[in-house]
Parts: sequence; structure tokens; C-alpha cells
Amino acid sequence: MDNCLFCKIIRGEIPSKKVYEDEYCYAFEDIAPVAPTHILFVPKEHLSGACEISSENSAVVGKIYEAIAKVAKQKGLDGGWRVVANNGADAGQTVFHLHFHLLGGRPLGVMCDNI
Ligand code: AMP
Ligand code: ZN
Repeated sequence: MDNCLFCKIIRGEIPSKKVYEDEYCYAFEDIAPVAPTHILFVPKEHLSGACEISSENSAVVGKIYEAIAKVAKQKGLDGGWRVVANNGADAGQTVFHLHFHLLGGRPLGVMCDNI
């Protein structure tokens, strides 16, 4: 996608701090981390969000989770970690290229405490 921030990062047109890459996904440090480890995992194929996951493309999600587990081990997040995928404006999605936040390195508290 020409005008997508994360597609531009994948193509190297916008700088990023790369953490991991394979044929399916690219991972880089979040520019505004909310935890000591805050890494974004994005599929190389442009999907606008989790809402576009289908039987045709869902294999990439498994590949991304494999990468997440590998990186979490490498980063020593043995006390625990969390994966978040915001989908849509109400969930706080601001970049409309599917991405998974890997968060760890501190106690993360209860999730969704305002539901
Ligand atoms: P979300 O709110 O779930 O769409 O997450 C988008 C994330 O992208 C936020 O955590 C931002 O801090 C992060 N972000 C935005 N621009 C960049 C960038 N140029 N490099 C790295 N992370 C970014
Ligand atoms: Zn994109």
C-alpha cells in the first residue's frame, strides 16, 4: 500500500529499529513504548486490521505468533508478556495495517479494567 506507514517501514522508506524479520513478518520497536519491551509485529502483506483476517490469509497470524514467542524468549520476558491487537477506532487503532503489540518487562496489571 503506497500510503501506509507500516508498509513504508517494511520497505525501509521510513526508519525503524528492527528487532526481527522473516518472509512473513517484520518486527520493530514501538516509537512510544508503554512498557520496557514494546515491539510491533506486522505482516509483510498489507491487511488493514484483524477484521481482514480470513481463511485465505490467516496462516500469517500463526507465523507472527511463532515470531512473537521467539522474540519474547530472546528478550528474556520469562515473567510474562502480553500481545495486543487493536482493531478499529473504538479499540484505539491508529495505524490501519494489522499489527500485534508485544508488551513486557514490567507487571502489566489487569487488562481492560474499564469494561
Ligand atoms: P495502534 O494504536 O494499536 O494502532 O498502534 C499503533 C502504534 O504504532 C502506536 O503504539 C504508535 O506508538 C506506533 N507507531 C506510530 N508510528 C510509529 C513509527 N514511525 N515507528 C514505530 N512505531 C510507531
Ligand atoms: Zn500497510
